[in-house]
Formats: sequence, C-alpha cells, structure tokens
Amino acid sequence: MTQYGPVDVIAIDGPSGTGKSTVARAVAAELRWRYLDTGAIYRAVTWAVLRAGVPAERAVEVARRCPVSIGTEPDTEDVRVDGTHVEAEIRSPEVSAAVSAVSAGPELRALLVETQRSLIGGGQIVVEGRDIGTVVVPDARLKIYLTADADVRAGRRAREVGSNPAEVGNAMRTRDGLDSSREASPLRPALHAVVLDTTAMTQDEVVAHILSLARLVVS
Ligand code: C5P
Repeated sequence: MTQYGPVDVIAIDGPSGTGKSTVARAVAAELRWRYLDTGAIYRAVTWAVLRAGVPAERAVEVARRCPVSIGTEPDTEDVRVDGTHVEAEIRSPEVSAAVSAVSAGPELRALLVETQRSLIGGGQIVVEGRDIGTVVVPDARLKIYLTADADVRAGRRAREVGSNPAEVGNAMRTRDGLDSSREASPLRPALHAVVLDTTAMTQDEVVAHILSLARLVVS
C-alpha cells in the first residue's frame, strides 16, 4: 500500500470478548463504510490446517494452496476457503483452540497482511483484529484499542456462545496469553491508539464513543 498520509481506516484492536466485532460492524454500518474481520481470515486458515491434518508450522503452505475469500459488507458474513462457505465452522471450539498457534507464524502473517491490505484498498473501512494499528495499517486515521476486565470478557463471550463462563475464561486467557506473547506482531495498543476500557460500558455506548471520535477525524 503506497501511503502519503492517514488513510480512511478505523483500526479496532484488542483481546477477545471486548465486543470488537459487534462494535466494528455497527460503526461501519453507521458511517456506510465497509468492514473487515481479520480474525475470520486467521480462523479460516486454521480450519483448513485442521482439515489438512498438518501441524501449525505448515499453515503457510495450506494458506497458499487454499485461498481464503471474505466479504466486507458489515451486515453479512461471507467467509470461504477454496469457494466453500465456512462461516459456522470457523467459530467451533476446535478452531478457537488452534488459531493462536497457527497465527503465530511470521511467514503466514506476512502473507495474510498482504491479503488484508488488498482488501482494505483505498479505505473507507473499519478493520478489526490484533495488529491492525501496529502492523497492517499504522497510518489508520483512527486507532482504537478495546479492553475490559478478564471476567467481564469471559462472561460476555460465554453468553454469546451459550457456554460456561469458567471454561470460556480459561480458553480465552490461554488464547490472549499466546496472542500477546508471540514474537510476530503481538497484541498491544498501537502508537497513538485511543485505549477504551469497556468494562462498565454498554456496546451502544462504545459505538457512540467511537463514532464521536471518528467524526472529528473523518470528513
Ligand atoms: O478476533 P478473533 O477472536 O476471531 O481472532 C481469532 C484469532 O486470530 C486471535 O486469537 C489471534 O490468534 C488471531 N488474529 C491475529 N491477528 C489478527 C486477528 C486475529 O493473530 N489481526
């Protein structure tokens, strides 16, 4: 991506259970911008790796062989591997348990960052993930880092997937630990990111806050 200044991208990063996806979709819909869920791309590659029965270290080979395509409309989900729809499969506990190990590979990340940048194109898009403000679009016009108390995040995610908060909390802590400690593009707030602790906020309040910031920087 050749850039000569800030691009019309809102980057939303943070650990799991902070409400990134719901918030990012709502912000995109309100601005009439596109929306990109980069976690879905890592999940789709992980699904393909599990299907191929190969170790996480070989993920980049699988990603080259089985291209992932993803839609960028905020109101629908369209994720495919080799043309096969995998929207439901990529949310399975098996994929969630394996995705951090797959995502840690620097070669895979380099390949998927290129995919993400070509989807982002000229901008007018809200992009959520773990390294959007730090690596994928460091020149994003607005960078948000969402965080929340770990138990609150586990409770939110447990309600979403209809599961036990303690179990969800353990899986989440493991995943966040791996995502934050990996060498390649670890999860952390980007330079100049607005850090928003959503522990005591409703999702509507988070959306309203981000939109008020967006209106200051986006014409
Ligand atoms: O956002 P979501 O929870 O679906 O992301 C799944 C996983 O994908 C994360 O736990 C992380 O390991 C990986 N990921 C990443 N970089 C991103 C987005 C997601 O490493 N930009």
